[in-house]
Amino acid sequence: MTSQDKSGRQVRVRFAPSPTGPLHIGGVRTALYNYLFARRNGGKMILRIEDTDSQRFVPGAEDYINEALSWLGIGIDEGVREGGPYGPYKQSERRDIYREHVRMLLDSGKAYLAFDTPEELAKVRAEKPNFQYDASTRMEMRNSLALPAEEVQRLLDSGAQYVVRFRIEPGRDVEVNDLIRGKVVIKSDILDDKVLYKSADDLPTYHLANIVDDHLMHISHVIRGEEWLPSAPLHVLLYEAFGWADTMPEFVHLPLLLKPDGKGKLSKRDGDRLGFPVFPLLWNDPASGNISSGYRESGYLPEAVVNFLALLGWNPGDDTEIMDMDTLIAKFSLDHCSKAGARFAFEKGKWFNHTYLQAMSDESLASLFRPVLQRHGIDDSKYSDDVLSRIVGLVKDRINFVEDLWDQAGFFFEAPQEYDPKAVKKRWSEDTPRIMKELIGQLQSLESWKSADAEAPVLAWITENGYHMGNVMNAFRLAVVGACRGPHMFDITEILGPDETISRINRAIENVQPAV
Ligand code: GLU
Repeated sequence: MTSQDKSGRQVRVRFAPSPTGPLHIGGVRTALYNYLFARRNGGKMILRIEDTDSQRFVPGAEDYINEALSWLGIGIDEGVREGGPYGPYKQSERRDIYREHVRMLLDSGKAYLAFDTPEELAKVRAEKPNFQYDASTRMEMRNSLALPAEEVQRLLDSGAQYVVRFRIEPGRDVEVNDLIRGKVVIKSDILDDKVLYKSADDLPTYHLANIVDDHLMHISHVIRGEEWLPSAPLHVLLYEAFGWADTMPEFVHLPLLLKPDGKGKLSKRDGDRLGFPVFPLLWNDPASGNISSGYRESGYLPEAVVNFLALLGWNPGDDTEIMDMDTLIAKFSLDHCSKAGARFAFEKGKWFNHTYLQAMSDESLASLFRPVLQRHGIDDSKYSDDVLSRIVGLVKDRINFVEDLWDQAGFFFEAPQEYDPKAVKKRWSEDTPRIMKELIGQLQSLESWKSADAEAPVLAWITENGYHMGNVMNAFRLAVVGACRGPHMFDITEILGPDETISRINRAIENVQPAV
């Protein structure tokens, strides 16, 4: 393992979310790939908070990001909480740095001041439908290139608000080298003179802050979602304008996450429509009060979420599916990232959760089951770890989520209140109460309630009397479970014990109305 990339630089990557709401699951995948790449290459993972858009700032979003990453085990080496040599790691605390860099571009003529008001811009856009603020139009606008120097000075002295725009020269082929996509070339003519800074809030825009920080933080690889690919040519030009082309990071644009069905990009609405979360943690929107579900609260294990996300856009080069974080780190490489969008197969996410739950010990699962029991009003202190572990062991192969343990094993804690009508119709006849009474007699005469010991004598009694095996055993099950489902009957009765088993059969004899 090396700590350097091909060009000999130390690998330093950053996850750079904007705290404008809950981190989307696609953002989590981006963070994960950055983390895997950093760890694989002995590099550093930086978390930078890009909060320069004061209009879109959402309280609580930054804490949410931290909590989500730590839940998933995505470790951060340098960041707001972790500190580090290139801080501050929150952009709103780096205003001086951006001001200085805006000045550098203004002094070198690579940027200019623009005084056009929002109303003026709206007007020109209304008049010229394809209007773009660029080399072909800028001399008709109110900016420091078009206005006489005295006028510019007068405006500044009068305290007029302005923005700083990047001066993009037409006629250039701009090359972006992307490690997944290869070389992408675009003409500089299609780019507009992007706003880099706004005097009104003394803050840079995303583009400037992002480039300056990537440079100052010695970022070697920019790994981010495909939606940022259109910004990359502008970023390349900014590196050049600053004279940093030699240390420009490598670009890596990850494939989009696509809808589980149909065409297009995964959205929150798909999650609502098909019933899966698109956020790592539950999110309570401070403005609307709306609650969005999260993977954590929906019962997913963080290991399962990580494993599932890792395979959405990357593969290990073989068909291995189950990989813990260390294995993912050992196998991760950008060469195996795909260009094509990755379908968000949420059913597969459930399968991962199922598989990780099966791999847990019965004891660990039992401890996760206790809070579920409490939520269902069961006093779990009455049950030892041993009993809970045995119960969990009997049903765990049927669960995708810890919460499912209640559906599968709730009958161990509560005698049936009602009996599945379909099963009653099929298995409970006029004669059943009599046979159940006989069954009670048989059970009372058992020498041992151990599953392996109890089964043979009961089955022998059924056969000897010429009873119907399926009807008797299912009526027995109906009486104890309330439905014809659940694990092996004698495993159930071993745990319930004689008193509870017999009392349930008696209750059924009294309460079940045979089907007519
Ligand atoms: N702040 C941007 C975001 O919200 C960062 C994009 C990038 O990684 O350059 O995703």
